[in-house]
Amino acid sequence: MSIDRRQLLLGGLALPWLGSCETGRRSLRIGGDASRTAHRLRTMDFPKPSAVEKHKVLILGGGVAGCTAAYTLEKQGFRDYLMLEMGHDPGGNARSGRNEVSAFPLGAHYLPLPHPSQADLLEFLQEAGALRGWSARGEPQYHEDYLCHDPEDRVFYEGRWFEGLIAWKALPQREIEDIRSFMHFVERARGTKGRDGRRIFQIPLDQSSRDPEWLKLDTMTLSAFVRGQGWHSRYLAWYLDYCCRDDYGTGWNGVSAWAGLHYFAGREAEPEEGATVLTWPEGNAWLVQKLMQRSRDRFVGDTLIFHIEPTAQGYQVDGWQESAGHARRWEAEALIVALPRFVAQRLLPGCAVPSGVLSYAPWMVANCKVARPPQSEGMPLCWDNVPFGSPSLGYVVATHQNVRRYESASVLTSYWPLTAETPSVARTIAGLRSPQDWEHLVLADLELMHPGIARDVQSMDFWLWGHGMIQPRPGYIWGQDRARMPLTSRPSLAFAHSDMSGISIFEEAFARGRQAALQILQNSGRQA
Ligand SMILES: Cc1cc2nc3c(=O)[nH]c(=O)nc-3n(C[C@H](O)[C@H](O)[C@H](O)COP(=O)(O)OP(=O)(O)OC[C@H]3O[C@@H](n4cnc5c(N)ncnc54)[C@H](O)[C@@H]3O)c2cc1C
Repeated sequence: MSIDRRQLLLGGLALPWLGSCETGRRSLRIGGDASRTAHRLRTMDFPKPSAVEKHKVLILGGGVAGCTAAYTLEKQGFRDYLMLEMGHDPGGNARSGRNEVSAFPLGAHYLPLPHPSQADLLEFLQEAGALRGWSARGEPQYHEDYLCHDPEDRVFYEGRWFEGLIAWKALPQREIEDIRSFMHFVERARGTKGRDGRRIFQIPLDQSSRDPEWLKLDTMTLSAFVRGQGWHSRYLAWYLDYCCRDDYGTGWNGVSAWAGLHYFAGREAEPEEGATVLTWPEGNAWLVQKLMQRSRDRFVGDTLIFHIEPTAQGYQVDGWQESAGHARRWEAEALIVALPRFVAQRLLPGCAVPSGVLSYAPWMVANCKVARPPQSEGMPLCWDNVPFGSPSLGYVVATHQNVRRYESASVLTSYWPLTAETPSVARTIAGLRSPQDWEHLVLADLELMHPGIARDVQSMDFWLWGHGMIQPRPGYIWGQDRARMPLTSRPSLAFAHSDMSGISIFEEAFARGRQAALQILQNSGRQA
């Protein structure tokens, strides 16, 4: 058993997090690319660019926001653009992997059913084939292959599985009352409008009400707000902390109460029956592939952007292409910067956010190939399987949408927001862990839910996200620094990334990408 050090040293850019090994029982691989950006951009040891290529528009960064910008330009009939991206494939945090059994997500894996007010997103879903149309009563009809099949989720609490994420049948009355009070509060907030007539919690979140009474919630943590309401249930505390770690990569002690409540009240009420999310074996990489359908020939991957220079005519952008061993230069009249701001501010003068304002959560995602689906009693295997009290979020079954999911080999995607330490300490610790360290952690978690499952695990692919998602800490969403992030004195420059919203979800990245593309077209007088 040995980590392949040669691969570690030779594999692409300086990849402190790349390695693989065989343990005799199973193969382990570890990957991730967030840290390579940070490391290479810190030293800035790049050669001079060797060639120049010109385009009207450059999209920098190929995450969901960048891909949506490309999709929007195409939709408006504009084709003189190029997308530059450090990863080999587009998608950013919504990329996927594959093994002999199934495709699997490396990060984002689902999209909650959009609110009817999200017309642009619904239009895209219809073009993509995920939305088939509307019923006579105006209800959206989604493609059944992509609506998360029943049963959707279960929780492992005190040695038993329960349907849903609240183990109602195992909780004392006092706990149930607190949970119900919280849910009642959310229900009312969902239907409430602020004094400006807007919904309190909206997606995209910049369309939410600016009623100061509600914005005050952004100045405190979710835990402080809940305690202040007199809700002391231990189970409610775990549940809300779990939800914050799930959507925001940080616990409820670090999340703004406004953001924490937005998680619940920003979306439609969950139906009594039926799916609440769209999902695919490869996760949101399915959506990325649809966004990029017309833009594949405009995509240049494996290109680490290391310098952006505003000029009299537009912009010069320099990128390092490791596999080709050279740096190249592109020139454009306009730029859509779909990079995370902690990267963009290193490359482009004048867009820095004051230090300490941006905070990103590190994550580890493990895809475990198992010879047979996990065995358990009681509530059957679900799409999402959550252990109460674990540092992980549990696992999602990548083969869940397959009707024969209970019969054969499968892939379990285990999610780990690294919240035990501050993000920078957690990143350092994560970078020092070997594949075997991660193997032990993940197997211990799975064994807790399914004793003996380790024997069935044939391979494990670990993926590390150093700066996985922006954390909506108190004051970030409705503070001045975020409000200034889109502002620029140059009409030919637009920013697009989910960190500008403060919550990292597909819908926000989609809205940011669309808005940036329309802004660039409008400012250049090219809007269709
Ligand atoms: C583990 C995990 C699970 C998630 N699960 C979900 C989910 O289930 N549903 C959901 O809606 N959201 C989920 N998210 C949030 C997800 O981040 C957003 O939905 C969305 O994908 C963010 O898109 P983005 O374009 O804003 O950012 P990114 O995905 O961060 O895109 C930025 C892009 O810029 C590139 N880049 C950075 N620096 C450079 C450089 N110097 N040169 C070139 N390129 C560069 C990056 O490689 C990346 O492709 C998850 C996130 C993580 C980390």
